[in-house]
Amino acid sequence: MGRPNVGKSTLFNRIIGKRQAIVLDTPGVTRDRNYGVADWNGKKFNIIDTGGMNFQKGDFNSEINSQVESALADADLIIFLTDSKSGITDLDAQIGKLLRPRKKDVILAVNKADNDMYRLNAYDFYNLGLGDPIAISANHGTGVGDLLDLVTKKLPDQEDPSENDHDQINVSIIGEPNVGKSSLVNRLIGDERLIVSSEAGTTRDAISLDLKTEDGEKFKLIDTAGIRRSGKVQEAVEKFSVIRAKNAVEDSDVSLVLIDAKAGIREQDKRVAGIAFESGRSIIIVVNKWDLIEKDDHTMKEFEQYVRDEFPYLSFAPIVFISAQTGLRVSSILPLVSEVYANSIKRIPSAVLNDVLFDAISMTPPAAHKGKILKLFYLTQVEVKPPLFIVFVNDLKLFHFSYERYLINYLRKVFDFTGVPVKIKARERS
Ligand code: GDP
Ligand code: GDP
Repeated sequence: MGRPNVGKSTLFNRIIGKRQAIVLDTPGVTRDRNYGVADWNGKKFNIIDTGGMNFQKGDFNSEINSQVESALADADLIIFLTDSKSGITDLDAQIGKLLRPRKKDVILAVNKADNDMYRLNAYDFYNLGLGDPIAISANHGTGVGDLLDLVTKKLPDQEDPSENDHDQINVSIIGEPNVGKSSLVNRLIGDERLIVSSEAGTTRDAISLDLKTEDGEKFKLIDTAGIRRSGKVQEAVEKFSVIRAKNAVEDSDVSLVLIDAKAGIREQDKRVAGIAFESGRSIIIVVNKWDLIEKDDHTMKEFEQYVRDEFPYLSFAPIVFISAQTGLRVSSILPLVSEVYANSIKRIPSAVLNDVLFDAISMTPPAAHKGKILKLFYLTQVEVKPPLFIVFVNDLKLFHFSYERYLINYLRKVFDFTGVPVKIKARERS
């Protein structure tokens, strides 16, 4: 952590080794937190970029206090980053003071020590009372190795953070700016860790949060920046946002596609949904701001039809109508995510599948085509997440799309694949 513009994002990127945080010359671009897994000489640890504090909003004292407080609460170790070029500022002194009670868990790093002169400046930082300052250059990488050596030395021995991922469901939350992603995440985690704002795009970075329900179920929420429409200044941010939305979806098991009930479905929403669809991930469509809609007993059905018409390729995705603001039905989301996830990892034994195939063929036998008739011999599931089935047939040319769709729908009727895209590929049996 550290005040804006000292180089936190740059350092985060250097440690993580991929461009996760957005680095721009505008202070405060990394507003929310950025999480990543770092690996230094085989020792893995989670690293959090606390982001800049928002200075426009006046009362930054309380902002700083709460940032420091949550860093202290969440972290085993804190890298307090400062800037050798500017020397100790009032803000550094203030943060330093707040960190002093946890001095043993604080590593003081002085960034932008790009040359000998600036490296010497680092000694001034002894005055913060946080022990030996380490001079680094996040830009050039100088000193970052020493810093990481110290980090891994100080960290308690822990199991690999990625190892216990198997029982955790990764959920990406995507949608246009302002549909209510941050509000939903806030509702779900039940605290105020994200900054929710009425201006579009407060959450510019994808951030992820681990969540454990009372019954011990674990989720990782990946909240993405929306995909922006306009604004020259934001172009660089936008480019990353699209990539990040894609990455977030790729990193997730289940994707929540958020729609604003009041604004309706726009071109941009379709683009967002397209990203989720193309990834082959499980999908839940979340219609947010349902509190703003004037309703009678037909409204939900009508809206559902509207969503189905606009997203014909997402017919497998369940739709939930919520209000992140009032909390309406928000509690139904995680149980639905679990259910959809369970559907996506379902493996159906071949013996059962072949009974089902037999039934399907008996119900609707393939039609003859130019005197030839399709024969289906065997159906087997070869993949999960998403489920992929292979059907062996006598002649690939006879396996038309309509019969493929019929089989998929039949499988969906027999086995619950709600929320999950299902694919069948045909192979010719010689
Ligand atoms: P943050 O607000 O603390 O996350 O800071 P950023 O990582 O966005 O960096 C702010 C500015 O400092 C950017 O222009 C960076 O390129 C620059 N910067 C970061 N690290 C270094 C460094 O080691 N040396 C120099 N000279 N500039 C740096
Ligand atoms: P994001 O850009 O997708 O993260 O959207 P935000 O969570 O920042 O929400 C954008 C705006 O919509 C904020 O002013 C929220 O208070 C408001 N908002 C979010 N969810 C709801 C909701 O369910 N109902 C109403 N009425 N407003 C909402």
